[in-house]
Amino acid sequence: MRRFEGQTALVTGGAKGIGAATAARLASEGAHVVIADFDEAGATETAEKIGGRAVRCDVTSREDVEAAVAAASETGRLDILVTCAGIIRDNLLHKMSDDDWDAVISTHLRGTFLSARAAQGPMVEQKSGSMVLISSVSALGNRGQANYSAAKAGIQGLAKTLSLELGRFGIRANCVAPGFIVTAMTAQTAERIGVSFEDFQAAGAAQTPLGRVGQPEDVAGVVAFLCSDDASYVSGQVVYVRGGP
Ligand code: NDP
Repeated sequence: MRRFEGQTALVTGGAKGIGAATAARLASEGAHVVIADFDEAGATETAEKIGGRAVRCDVTSREDVEAAVAAASETGRLDILVTCAGIIRDNLLHKMSDDDWDAVISTHLRGTFLSARAAQGPMVEQKSGSMVLISSVSALGNRGQANYSAAKAGIQGLAKTLSLELGRFGIRANCVAPGFIVTAMTAQTAERIGVSFEDFQAAGAAQTPLGRVGQPEDVAGVVAFLCSDDASYVSGQVVYVRGGP
């Protein structure tokens, strides 16, 4: 399938994990992909593998985000925005610091807002576009993740509002909410709680109806579907990618 031939995609947090798999999937179907990430070396490495472009970008910075959108728009268009940049700073509420709260809200919620606001400019002009914002099952609540859960639930509200405001310009906005996906982020959680990543994955698999944890490519395929014309009448939705209900 070459569903994205001639299209330009901007993927935040695309250096590794879900963002890198998404960037690779979009590129494999013909998109020119610009990867915007904090991790410049990782972004460059991923971009080189897929024939895309890397830009260093902190999604909490308006200037950085606008520069990333401008870089992607140098192709003359911006068709796809996927927001994957993310961090975790888990702790129980009574031990969660102001900094832990602010860092997570700022990266996920402000970062997604800044990215969507910047991307809507060229998309409104060309009267088409698709945004996929990465949320999480944690949006439904998760012990030790007050900051992350609040941000990920907020991203769902943001996507629904974007779908209402931008639909008349031919722009769709949806969320993908993954469950346990094998990435550096889940490896970090295993390390924090003091179990091996293998044991952590086995425990995650045991709690999942499909009997396994997810891989970044499991998410990338759904993101690609939502970005594509196959989802041309789907907007304002949240698709859970969690191996179960
Ligand atoms: P990774 O840690 O593998 O990748 C996240 C990327 O985002 C990293 O390259 C990271 O750079 C980058 N990043 C962090 N902060 C910023 C910032 N301020 N500006 C730009 N880039 C930044 O995570 P995942 O692939 O697992 O996660 C991708 C998304 O999916 C996140 O939004 C996450 O919350 C979400 N998600 C993940 C799940 C999972 O199980 N893995 C489940 C549900 C949702 P650096 O490494 O330098 O910090």
